[in-house]
Amino acid sequence: LGGFDHPVCVGLEVAGEGRAFPKASGKPDEIFETDGQITKRPVRALTLSALAPQRGEHLWDIGGGTGSISIEWLMCDPTLTATTIEPRADRAERIRRNADTLGQDRLNVVHGTAPGSLGGLTLPDVVFIGGGLSNELMEWLHAALPEVTRLVANAVTLESEALLAQWQNKLGGELLRIELAQASALGPRRGWKSAFPVVQWSVTL
Ligand code: SAH
Repeated sequence: LGGFDHPVCVGLEVAGEGRAFPKASGKPDEIFETDGQITKRPVRALTLSALAPQRGEHLWDIGGGTGSISIEWLMCDPTLTATTIEPRADRAERIRRNADTLGQDRLNVVHGTAPGSLGGLTLPDVVFIGGGLSNELMEWLHAALPEVTRLVANAVTLESEALLAQWQNKLGGELLRIELAQASALGPRRGWKSAFPVVQWSVTL
């Protein structure tokens, strides 16, 4: 389950009977039970690339949602660990189910709000913000975490995008705007259906 190499499916992970999926990050959305609050596959792949997990590292996944970022992080290597913070009880429970179904019991699910619930947690090497972005959260992280900590934040709203622009001006790092469109039906023909742009900030604090 989860991270072992199947003898005949090179590059695939096998989770139970009849389920095989690729080892690369950006796994199919369908492997996760979700209420729709999920970072979709292509953006998730870019996010895992930006998080750039290295042996033994610990992740804070703030705004866990479905848990897909934490779970894919853990799938990269058995030495990785993660804590996710999610304020909605139903989502926290769903994250636990997804982690267990996909064999990632190294996920610590905290039912709480950031930054309020962060004090007292084991300090991370890497932080991902997928929800709950605020100036208060950024101030807290900047004050509490060592300067070697890596941070990746995804923003969809104008307000959170403005916050990232402001903090990038202060701390540097890389701002990336991800604009994707998928072909879909347009009457009898096809057209490009654009997703909301995602602004991604990657920085070492
Ligand atoms: N990256 C996730 C989806 C994130 S959706 C995935 O791929 O599965 C954003 C989540 O942030 C929501 O579930 C929301 O409940 C949560 N959230 C909102 N405010 C928060 C806060 N202050 N602290 C932590 N999480 C928060």
